[in-house]
Amino acid sequence: MRQSPTLYVHTPFCRAKCRYCAFYSAATGPAGPAPAVLSRYLAALEAEMDQQAQAFGTALALGPAPSLFFGGGTPSLLGTEGLAHVMAALSQRFPLAPDAEITLEANPDSAAPELLRAARTLGVNRLSLGVQSLDDRALAALGRAHDARQAARAFRDARQAGFTNIGLDLIFGLPGQTPEHWLETLRQAVALGPEHLSCYGLTIEPGTPLSRDAAALAALPDDDAQAEMFLSGAELLADAGYEHYEISNFAKPGRRCRHNLACWQGRDVLGFGPAAVSTLTCEVRTLRWANPADLDAWEALVLSGRAGQGGREELSAAVCAQEALMLALRTADGLGLDAHQTRTGQDLRSTHAGLLEQLVQAGLADLTPERLRLTRAGMLLSNSIIRALGFESSQDENFS
Ligand code: SF4
Repeated sequence: MRQSPTLYVHTPFCRAKCRYCAFYSAATGPAGPAPAVLSRYLAALEAEMDQQAQAFGTALALGPAPSLFFGGGTPSLLGTEGLAHVMAALSQRFPLAPDAEITLEANPDSAAPELLRAARTLGVNRLSLGVQSLDDRALAALGRAHDARQAARAFRDARQAGFTNIGLDLIFGLPGQTPEHWLETLRQAVALGPEHLSCYGLTIEPGTPLSRDAAALAALPDDDAQAEMFLSGAELLADAGYEHYEISNFAKPGRRCRHNLACWQGRDVLGFGPAAVSTLTCEVRTLRWANPADLDAWEALVLSGRAGQGGREELSAAVCAQEALMLALRTADGLGLDAHQTRTGQDLRSTHAGLLEQLVQAGLADLTPERLRLTRAGMLLSNSIIRALGFESSQDENFS
């Protein structure tokens, strides 16, 4: 039987836009979305779920979903009623497996104890807290709406509400940050005792306020300092008992995020809400569509009965294979070489023998007869390595 897709719901609201953020969300002000805006969003979401359930639920006989992820934006701004509404609407149309992982993203300033308790009662069993830093100056520079004390309090509130699976999102490579500052942030985060940590390097996204802040750009740590943050941070987390299971993700044993793993393993994802991306395999075709990254445009599409019709394309087998290679090499499990050969007809062990030898000799990869895995040092160069392995024309890249 086919594996059911993992489900994703995008909440397009944030109290204010952070200075570095390029994700789609509308700034609502401190009170969150106005009731009329929230009801419009919920009504359109339900219409989208209806249409997708008819289009795919029956056509593909989808079984219970293994996971559901509320991402954004700031899903905690849905409030208790909004969250209950979405959970009910979704589970009527797309049943969840009894042991489904249900994750809610929340920001420390909108994770009130009542909301956290209500989320647990509704079946949410994993919380992803957008902490980003535990340094108040860094948080202010990023334009975050909370301070470090609020972040630690939200974590404790979540524990008291019954969450036994909590992830913290952190960013390194911040303006003015040194490797020692970053390690101190990680020590403080580890001291809270989360089950999962996501550590992303700061990306300067064009068009964001941060990208126009010359002083902040001038204070960014250089490449060597960023590499040191990545390597020494990963070492600190390994010593604290976290598995480094994907370039940017660390988990206590048994606590890897199932939703993210499904995405990295190229499994089907069915997304709802503006900017949500879906990928579904129907027999031999792989379809992908990206909902409009605009609340009004998405609502208009859905209310005209055309859910999933925006930005829709059929992915070629070559594109799917490229993606699979790229995603697999970002993970600790690495790339299954036989599976890659089945997908592409290409045996990297012979077509790229010289390159693989070079990577192993340089300490950038581990190679067994069945798998290729990047080492931590290799992860730092993952983009170049993936390019060199994925495209014939880049085989002359030098890694020695
Ligand atoms: S809270 Fe998250 S999604 Fe919202 S603006 Fe900040 S970084 Fe972006």
